[in-house]
Amino acid sequence: QKQEWAKLKDEPTKTAEGEHVELVANIGTPEDVEGVINNGGEGVGLYRTEFLYMGKSELPTEEEQYKAYKSVLDQMGDKPVVVRTLDIGGDKELSYLDLPKELNPFLGFRAIRLCLERDDIFRTQLRALLRASTSGNLKIMFPMIATLDEFRQAKAILLEEKDKLINEGTEVSDQIEIGIMVEIPSTAVIARQFAKEVDFFSIGTNDLIQYTMAADRMNERVSYLYQPYNPSIINLVNNVIEAAHAEGKWAGMCGEMAGDSIAIPILLGLGLDEFSMSATSILPARTQIKELSKQDLASFKDKLLSMNTAEEVEQFIREKTNQ
Ligand code: PEP
Ligand code: MG
Repeated sequence: QKQEWAKLKDEPTKTAEGEHVELVANIGTPEDVEGVINNGGEGVGLYRTEFLYMGKSELPTEEEQYKAYKSVLDQMGDKPVVVRTLDIGGDKELSYLDLPKELNPFLGFRAIRLCLERDDIFRTQLRALLRASTSGNLKIMFPMIATLDEFRQAKAILLEEKDKLINEGTEVSDQIEIGIMVEIPSTAVIARQFAKEVDFFSIGTNDLIQYTMAADRMNERVSYLYQPYNPSIINLVNNVIEAAHAEGKWAGMCGEMAGDSIAIPILLGLGLDEFSMSATSILPARTQIKELSKQDLASFKDKLLSMNTAEEVEQFIREKTNQ
């Protein structure tokens, strides 16, 4: 089986009818890029920048960050690299920020919420990213966006820093796409409104499932409620993809679900454009997609969307795809 996967390493991902979909990887550090290349990744769909900030006693400098971002972009050449701005809080703490303990950290002061209030931290990261932008195909993505206003504020800060850099004589790419993670139900529900203003969506199902089902993604006691194939999730994901396409934008997914062999046929049928997963899942996924007809899967869409339970969805896909 490994041999069959290896044959597809340097090939683009194609469905049975020959349509291209993009298979990209999730990374946490510049060192992870080697694995992406060795596994035939067509780009980076999620660079989690938190690791630059964690396991340290102080904030990383602009220069440290610039080096890390530039290294990833250099290594990936002209392939797309989606960098997510700082997503700290929730389960990921930064002791040196000295933030007060919260009763519900996953519903609290995290990610973009923190970045908009501590815009000094945010601006430093954005400057590092903008300076690195000329080294490759950079796309910038904001995490945990719950309202259009948050996106507008974050984008305005980004554009301010871009203007400052240009006025200082620093070169900045003018091709940078600006997108958001869709991982909060409020955003998935009115994706149509967001789609008019963003360049792309990346659906973060790890959080979207926990927030939709109100089931902590780390809590074993309620893990039975953490249901990727629940029709509520399928409907939300579909809404996001349709909204993107209606506005001529692209929609990806960077949660664990994007690399799951039951979810892949569902997502393909819904028209997902980009699948971002751990590097080691790329070749198995490419092998699976080669055998899948997107047209056939798309014809089951209405049926899937109106199913009643996660079990029904799973069983249906298992039957249709011989799993
Ligand atoms: C997600 O929420 O699906 C996601 C990709 O982000 P993280 O797992 O880092 O929260
Ligand atoms: Mg998340």
